[in-house]
Amino acid sequence: MHLFSYIDGSLCCEGVRLEEVAARFGTPAYVYSAGTIRENFRRLDRALAPLDRMICYAVKANSNTAILDLLVREGAGFDIVSAGELFRVLKAGGRADRCTFAGVGKTAEEIAWALKRGIYCLNVESEPELERINAVAGSLGLVAPIALRVNPDVDAHTHEFISTGKSKNKFGIGLDRAAAVYAAAAAMPHLRIRGVQTHIGSQILDAGPFAEAAGKLAGLVADIHARHGIEFFSIGGGIGIVYDHALASGAPAWWQSSDHPHRITPEDYAAAIVPVLGPLGLKILFEPGRFIVGNAGVVLSTVQYVKTTPAKTFAIVDSAMNDLIRPALYEGWHEIVPLEESRAPLVPMDVVGPVCESGDFFAQDRDLPPLAPGDRIAVLSSGAYGFVMSSNYNSRPLLPEILVDGKSMHLIRRRQSLEDLVAGETIPRTQTS
Ligand SMILES: *Cc1c(COP(=O)(O)O)cnc(C)c1O
Repeated sequence: MHLFSYIDGSLCCEGVRLEEVAARFGTPAYVYSAGTIRENFRRLDRALAPLDRMICYAVKANSNTAILDLLVREGAGFDIVSAGELFRVLKAGGRADRCTFAGVGKTAEEIAWALKRGIYCLNVESEPELERINAVAGSLGLVAPIALRVNPDVDAHTHEFISTGKSKNKFGIGLDRAAAVYAAAAAMPHLRIRGVQTHIGSQILDAGPFAEAAGKLAGLVADIHARHGIEFFSIGGGIGIVYDHALASGAPAWWQSSDHPHRITPEDYAAAIVPVLGPLGLKILFEPGRFIVGNAGVVLSTVQYVKTTPAKTFAIVDSAMNDLIRPALYEGWHEIVPLEESRAPLVPMDVVGPVCESGDFFAQDRDLPPLAPGDRIAVLSSGAYGFVMSSNYNSRPLLPEILVDGKSMHLIRRRQSLEDLVAGETIPRTQTS
């Protein structure tokens, strides 16, 4: 679900023309739809209503504090992977006792920081981490709430870089060893066992693997519950979104393709897992990231040059892989549309950025309406793992982020300046020529 569509031939985000956003804040820029984020959250929450639940939005997907604030207001909890993310949640008015802390490499400082703020649970991925948490909690005179992340060894049928629930992945503790590690945890004086957690991967478009993971873990969860009196089971995140044909309503004819992609809805997801999770009699945690924000954001860009070689046509735009790295990092596919609706015959082209890397592209051999310098485009479905993964590579300032809500637009992060690029750098005074 998303609220981007053509109105009178002009691409709009909710009630705002994206041309207007570009005119006011310049390009390149990230634009998000508040209504889309709210609706995605509410729809998932409604679908899961049969369960005693807490939806912990995965902050790493999009961590702007304005987005976190919006989700705090919706009643979300949060799944964090660093002290920095917890800091953001707290800044946005969220509560640490509604946050779970994931990740394979938590430092002692991060563990201490989270414990002092009253984190709901630390999700533990190895025995050495369990020992470290016990030691840190002991030194602070605290008891650390923990869950083990159990790896169910299921195939999520997603890109190998975003698959996490196979036994060959670095994540979690194997199902065969989980009961023994729980027993070890129970013997550590500064730990309190609070739950069981799993997360099998990202961009999963089929409810089957979720049900399979839940089914494989149900016995263990019941056993751990009986032995240690736990409170929750977390099934993690990973619900996929539609990248292909993302503009469902008002799509121009040239956009319609005969074979529609595989997709998953919150209702499909709930139908597959509620029957398995309900009987556990526990609070169920969900950690969606991409599903909540993915289709809620676009990157706005302006075409700088159109370069034609004997082999190809390149539309060179003002955003680049440092702003949105998904195509280069894991072959992410994004729909690209002009802000002004076009009925011209399509031409094949590559849409590329100015960065000095051949991996710097948004689309290759894509049929698009003809583009000319000055034309504006939107790279759709960029709300998750977009801005958060951006870098200053090639000394390109980070983009501004704009949140549209109904008919209003809000700058929620200003564009970096050239001065920002060197802030924090120091030239040693002893340097000689
Ligand atoms: C990344 C991650 C998520 C969120 O994944 P999405 O695919 O964005 O829903 C949830 N839980 C954990 C532990 C993660 O690492």
